[in-house]
Amino acid sequence: MIQTNTPATLVLLFGATGDLAKRKLYPSLYNLYEKGILSEQFAVIGIARRRLTHEQYRNWVKDSVETFGMPQEKIGKFIRHFYFQSHDVTDENSYRELKGLADELDEKYAANGNRIFYLAMSPEFFGTVAESLKEYGFTDTKGFKRLVIEKPFGWDLSSAVELNERIRSAFSEKEIYRIDHYLGKEMVQNIEVIRFANAIFEPLWNNRYISNIQITSGETLGVEERGRYYEKNGALRDMVQNHMLQIVSLLAMEPPIRLTTDEIRSEKVKVLRALHPIEKKDVHKYFVRGQYGRGIIGGKEVPAYREEPMVDPNSNTETFVAGKLMIDNFRWAGVPFYIRTGKRMQAKTLKIVVQFKDIPMNLYYRNGSSLNPNLLVIHIQPEEGITLHLNVKKSGRTMETTPVKLNFSNKNVDGINTPEAYEKLLYDILRGDATNFTHWDEVAYSWNFVDPISEAWAEEKADFPNYAAGTFGPKAADELLQRDGFFWWPITNLNIDD
Ligand code: NAD
Repeated sequence: MIQTNTPATLVLLFGATGDLAKRKLYPSLYNLYEKGILSEQFAVIGIARRRLTHEQYRNWVKDSVETFGMPQEKIGKFIRHFYFQSHDVTDENSYRELKGLADELDEKYAANGNRIFYLAMSPEFFGTVAESLKEYGFTDTKGFKRLVIEKPFGWDLSSAVELNERIRSAFSEKEIYRIDHYLGKEMVQNIEVIRFANAIFEPLWNNRYISNIQITSGETLGVEERGRYYEKNGALRDMVQNHMLQIVSLLAMEPPIRLTTDEIRSEKVKVLRALHPIEKKDVHKYFVRGQYGRGIIGGKEVPAYREEPMVDPNSNTETFVAGKLMIDNFRWAGVPFYIRTGKRMQAKTLKIVVQFKDIPMNLYYRNGSSLNPNLLVIHIQPEEGITLHLNVKKSGRTMETTPVKLNFSNKNVDGINTPEAYEKLLYDILRGDATNFTHWDEVAYSWNFVDPISEAWAEEKADFPNYAAGTFGPKAADELLQRDGFFWWPITNLNIDD
């Protein structure tokens, strides 16, 4: 795709002093500006409760950009596009003042009424802000209007429906950009290309040739300062309902008839609709939960989840989930998709392993060597690339086989880091491309799948902690695959440059 400049826009950033704005949004906006992609006709109103002057806020933005060690030449010019408005989103009076500043900047920057409302704040405010934006005339604009919201979108299906109705009272579905930052990752976007631009994979991409697919998302960090949020949500709501199911849908969807937002979404939704529903009584057959105890990470002892700040010492919240998903359609019937995600894992990693079926007859086994199955590994982070595992002949006077890896690493090709997910997503929002955002139907089907699991778990106290920090989760997660005759491919052996 050729990058085009973004249109004139006014961004109203709610939660301007928060962690997300600081770590992701300012550096990503600056990257776009630095590359000359962001139009000079842009202005940002930073909105938060505290009192800051425009100047203080600009220094705040500058600090956040500098912390991430980016080129600084254009920083002085960049921050002049930022303005601050102290505002409590629950206080009706302050919307009028905010509206005055928005109208003034719209004129000053000739933004043509184009407005992006970015809610980088706690989800409890999403409904209130959306309704107030309508009530106080912000959405009554001659340009485009877009609402950007962060996860989590609801806590279960019914709360998500309620939230959706509130925001839909002010914005149409096409104007809502629900962020799933996994969809901004380079190699997640590459899944489609690997599948649909290569003649060698698509014919094999089905239950005749694939035996199972494994998706592992691991963090080495614990809950850090997010104990309060995490206690309420856990790994199932925080990771599975959104990120993991999005990856499953990209891996399993049918080729879209065109690469348009609507066509791609419609294929993804079909996968989510085809997920084999898990009844509460069967949850233990398909899903495993875990919570970390003390352990060692990077040579250092780390505390158990129940010892973390703002966490209940008897917490029943899961920090790990493994699951087996079946997709009831012609292409995938009988192929398990195994997912696992957790905190305090042995490695920070996001990888997909596609395991192909064994060939019908092993001609080489007699010679004393066994054959390894062919694997296609998609490395999403920290490495970016793909690896194909094949069997070849050992050199010399022998017909024994040996496994080899064909590696492609993104870094080797570009020599530079690929853009941060948020940079790509902000670029899409500014240009009005909603392909890499979650449609309401996807949110609803995902909750529908996940709800019986969380309900079953809420009814039964788990035997936690059940895995040591620095491992890949509880034993039960290994048994989940062993029952089907499979095992998790050891992540550490799959790295690109091994
Ligand atoms: P945060 O707590 O660090 O920041 C919240 C911001 O909202 C602050 O600027 C605060 O001043 C403002 N705020 C709070 N109450 C307000 C009120 N009544 N009126 C006006 N402003 C108010 O939160 P965060 O970590 O930046 O997260 C923001 C959103 O992004 C959340 O939905 C979170 O789940 C999501 N998210 C965050 C991250 C991350 O890396 N931090 C990652 C993914 C998603």
